Amino acid sequence: MRDLAVSARYVKGVGPSKLKFLNRLGIETVEDLLYCLPRRYEDRSKIKKVSELKPGNLETVKAKVLTFGGRTTKRGLNIFTLACGDYTGVLHATWFNQPYMKDRFKLGQELILHGKVEKNIYLQINNPEYEIITDTKDNSIHMGRIVPIYPLTESLNQRWLRNVMKEAIDTYVDGIVDILPYDIRRRNDLMFLKEAVRNAHFPVSDVVLKKARYRLIFDEFLLLQTGIAFKKASVKIDLNGYSHSLDGDLIEKFKKSLSFEFTKSQKKVITEIENDMKSPKPMNRLLQGDVGSGKTIVALCGLLLTVQNGYQGALMVPTEILAEQHYKNISVLLMGLGIKVALLSGDLKAKERNRRKLMIENGEIDIVVGTHALIQQGVRFKNLGLAVVDEQHKFGVMQRAILKSKSINPDMLVMTATPIPRTLALTVYGDLDISIIDELPPGRGEIKTLYFEEKNRQKAYRLAEGEVKIGRQAYVVYPIIKESEKSDLRAATKMQKELSGLFPDLKIGLLHGRMKSIDKERIMRDFKEKRIEILVSTIVIEVGVDISNASTMIIEHADRFGLSQLHQLRGRIGRGKYASYCVLIAKPKTDDARSRIKAMLDTNDGFKIAEQDLEIRGPGEFFGTRQHGLPELKIGNIVRDRDILEITRKEAFELIKKDRFLRRPENRYIRAGLKKKFGMKELELASVG
Ligand code: ADP
Ligand code: MG
Repeated sequence: MRDLAVSARYVKGVGPSKLKFLNRLGIETVEDLLYCLPRRYEDRSKIKKVSELKPGNLETVKAKVLTFGGRTTKRGLNIFTLACGDYTGVLHATWFNQPYMKDRFKLGQELILHGKVEKNIYLQINNPEYEIITDTKDNSIHMGRIVPIYPLTESLNQRWLRNVMKEAIDTYVDGIVDILPYDIRRRNDLMFLKEAVRNAHFPVSDVVLKKARYRLIFDEFLLLQTGIAFKKASVKIDLNGYSHSLDGDLIEKFKKSLSFEFTKSQKKVITEIENDMKSPKPMNRLLQGDVGSGKTIVALCGLLLTVQNGYQGALMVPTEILAEQHYKNISVLLMGLGIKVALLSGDLKAKERNRRKLMIENGEIDIVVGTHALIQQGVRFKNLGLAVVDEQHKFGVMQRAILKSKSINPDMLVMTATPIPRTLALTVYGDLDISIIDELPPGRGEIKTLYFEEKNRQKAYRLAEGEVKIGRQAYVVYPIIKESEKSDLRAATKMQKELSGLFPDLKIGLLHGRMKSIDKERIMRDFKEKRIEILVSTIVIEVGVDISNASTMIIEHADRFGLSQLHQLRGRIGRGKYASYCVLIAKPKTDDARSRIKAMLDTNDGFKIAEQDLEIRGPGEFFGTRQHGLPELKIGNIVRDRDILEITRKEAFELIKKDRFLRRPENRYIRAGLKKKFGMKELELASVG
């Protein structure tokens, strides 16, 4: 059997210079080459004639070069146009700002073009993918079949790489060892790995291609899930943290002082948290709940439990406004319980900050609420028993880890209002357990979401005015602060003036990120106490702000905000018993922007919104690499392929349950794969939490 670990140089057709280009694609060995899968496929068993092309469709067409030439517009845009055709008609292919294209073609050459067909004066494809057909015997690889299209760097062309791939597969595919134990493969009706690799490059049919890709994704996900399962098992066994006793009356007293009952979901989650905290194993829990579902109060119960046991609690939040608000609310809620709460934010004067830090270190403070200031060097706790991170999607893995490191294995609760489906969450958040609040407290007013075009902006303002007249308040949110010369964004500062002119008898305030904290606080206080009726603001109020009298949220340039962001902003209203209005003012220019607006109009359910957002942006963008510890996936997509994600999760946990260190012979390849792919030293992943 051939060794796949040898340099890709050994494949026929790869010389030293081409090898360098392959290296740029991350390909060193033959194995890397075999696993460099096509970006997409072209069904060239169905190549069309020009007359068969349908405008609006993605099409593949074969045609001969008739003429070509470039020109530069007055604004300096270079346009290269190539006319090609067959006996049924003519097609124009156009490339922008790629003047070198003129050296690529010769008259009379045959081309395959692929792209979206448009109809102007002529049939046209802008920036098509193309391939020049050379008259060689290897056409059976490139024509009349489903053809792989690879990710490329400059100086490599599809035809060359496809030939190399064919060579590599014909020579080396037998060297591939199937990593899966027989029973997993049989149970899931999986193709042999060799066949899967071969058909992922050169599929014999659509159906086989699907099975081939399924097998490869299965392997990738199984390794991922096995890593997670292994790590989870390690955490449970290895660590010892705080063990909280549930004896005491603090939480009962607190509950009695509240003017409302917990919802069923809240009660369930509080019990989950209590059970975790009781156990000496450190809690590692993610609390997912839509905006306004009442996560803060649930976290507060946990914080009280740790205080009752003589430890300290910390609550970290992403913005100063939010820290201030939480600090005030918590202070009021805990009044009379004899608990010392302190605020630690970035803008404190050095003297005051040092005083508070000292009190935290001495244990004179029970609960600390703070921003990133909490994880600065020099902030030391006497005995931090529970660390809570609110709006965790605003923090990175590292920041959560630093907070955790302020104590020895403290209990950890992270909260998010961007909930995602369970299997996905379990995968992305690796070793976290998951709690979900899936209902809102009763008695909330309905939120209506409306969409106005920019020319109807006045209507939105009239709506806000009407609400203010009956005693409510409104937010108007803008994407940026100062109008820049290039953009046509209506800046918040300018808008505040305009609104003040429009409604001289209304009290209009302005809030933005560049204000001093003390001014932000003053503005928020004025809004809370109704001295401001319409608050013009930038995105700084995105998360957490809780003012139940506000009933209107006008979002200017709504097309510029992300979907989760829009939903968060909408979460600022509908917090009281009044009916509320979220007005999106927008002029969406892209399909993505339109689908975001549509999603907002379609649903008010945070879980559905998050799913949509994931779909629109894709997992990479959605989570951002710094948010999670997922290794890069090459083939699978955790959103698109979530059914496979689910199946492999079950298989992986079963595997680790039966063979904790993967010592059985039939699992040796999985073990090796884990070490290799995810750099597990001694089968140990780096700690992420
Ligand atoms: P989020 O989950 O968005 O952080 P909050 O914790 O800010 O939500 O809660 C929103 C509001 O709902 C707060 O004013 C809070 O006091 C209130 N609240 C929380 N739980 C309940 C409940 N069970 N019944 C009524 N109001 C509640
Ligand atoms: Mg909150």
